[in-house]
Amino acid sequence: MSYPGIGTWPARRRARTPDKTALVFGDESFTYREFADAADRVATLLALHGIGRGDAVAYVGENSPEFLFTLFGAARLGAVFVPVNTRLAPPEVTHVLADSGTRLVICDPELWDKVAPGIEERGITSAIPTGHGDEADPGLTRLLGEIDAGTAPVDDAGAPEDPVVYMYTSGTTGRSKGAVLTNANLTWVSLNCILDYDLLSSEVALLISPLFHAAALGMGALPLVLKGGTIVLERRFDPGRALSLIQRHGVTMLSGVPTTYQLLADHPDWAATDLASLRRLTCGGSAVPTRILDIYEARGLSFTQGYGMTETSPGHTALTAEHTRDKQGSVGLPHFFSAVRIAGDDGLPAAIGEVGEIEARGPNVFPGYLNLPEVNAGAFTDDGWFRTGDMGYLDAEGFLFIADRLKDLIISGGENIYPAEVENHLFDIEGVTGAAVIGVPDEKWGEVPWAVLTVQPGVEVSTQDVQEHLAGRIARFKIPKNVVIVDELPRTASGKVRKADLRARFGGAAAATTRPI
Ligand code: ATP
Ligand code: MG
Repeated sequence: MSYPGIGTWPARRRARTPDKTALVFGDESFTYREFADAADRVATLLALHGIGRGDAVAYVGENSPEFLFTLFGAARLGAVFVPVNTRLAPPEVTHVLADSGTRLVICDPELWDKVAPGIEERGITSAIPTGHGDEADPGLTRLLGEIDAGTAPVDDAGAPEDPVVYMYTSGTTGRSKGAVLTNANLTWVSLNCILDYDLLSSEVALLISPLFHAAALGMGALPLVLKGGTIVLERRFDPGRALSLIQRHGVTMLSGVPTTYQLLADHPDWAATDLASLRRLTCGGSAVPTRILDIYEARGLSFTQGYGMTETSPGHTALTAEHTRDKQGSVGLPHFFSAVRIAGDDGLPAAIGEVGEIEARGPNVFPGYLNLPEVNAGAFTDDGWFRTGDMGYLDAEGFLFIADRLKDLIISGGENIYPAEVENHLFDIEGVTGAAVIGVPDEKWGEVPWAVLTVQPGVEVSTQDVQEHLAGRIARFKIPKNVVIVDELPRTASGKVRKADLRARFGGAAAATTRPI
């Protein structure tokens, strides 16, 4: 326990607040003593399977206590935890397991079909099902029950730069990449979160987002354990259940992406649910439509909005609730121990208000991707800042405003169009449930914007309706030249629209049929 790495956190909590409730999951609940004991047992079990310092242990499963026990148990051995997105297709799971060099995999039995193909060729030596399993194939819960908590081997040689998690990016812009997150990265993101969100040990946080994404881990589970709060964990997000849990447990803190908050507000129980205990709502991952802010404001609830990415563990900036109005549209200041700058065209920092690529630095910024030396070489500036691939600007007080992703930027007749700005207006149209603006090749203008929308059943929205709605609100060149209604937008597991898929679908043939208005 010489270095206070992530693997030592439960034991340090056990020493301080052993009887405090660490985790509630359905009808089960675990004190910090029980939580730390379980993590110790996982460490013993993994060691029995030959896992040690630097070995990768993958977890393919929905949110559960076992997920967190495995994360901390692996870290206690100096092993690396690899959370796998359960929504991935089998070849994508194969990629993650192979790329991470996983040696042992823990898997929900119903997801085994995604893991099984070619498991032996990949050098995976052991696979353990979650849950109880049966006599022939005992599950993790049963195996942990057979282990004496006091026997856990402890790795004392931990260091700040040790990898603790290989966290794969969401794959919104291409194949997902394995971000190496270290002890230091996860410690500092947790400290940033505790400081800037003002987390208390009396916090009761409802975690409904998947733990296999950086947000629920780095800005949920880890800071909560560090601070000694209580986590109410849900296997999957169910808006009705979430509303009832808020009341039942007096939940103080909720985090999610915009869709999470939309689904809660759309639920029939929304109006009747007592939300008085909620003190902290955090939202990030993509721009928060003003409509959502308004719905919550009407209930006296305001958001802390955040911006970040897997590579920044993930929280990097925060707009606290008191700035919701005067800094509307901003994602706030960099976290206390983090920094942001904007790259100008000439290689110098951009002027105030000038849009350029956002660069990030701080102890929460990852050291690089696994197995991608060429990408890594271009991912950092010569002076060590991470190139985020997002465009934005800073105002005079240093608040960051996101324009959009560099890859999604539309350039039409030499003018830049940031799809996010147009989408925000599209969400204001009655009946629009989803909106994505993409650039479609055009002979005259290079690219023109198209809007791809989903609408409520029975609602009709025409190209003309959209153009009329936007006229006068945004510049003419930003107004979509064509509107396509689809049943569903292609999305990642975290709900982000895969624009590359839309560009591939609408980019080619259709372009010749449109002309600018
Ligand atoms: P990939 O890197 O594999 O293409 P991804 O970038 O979607 O996928 P994540 O790390 O989950 O993977 O997402 C980070 C990105 O999400 C940021 O780079 C940014 O584009 C977007 N994002 C995060 N927070 C916000 C926000 N508050 N407003 C707008 N965009 C945001
Ligand atoms: Mg990314």
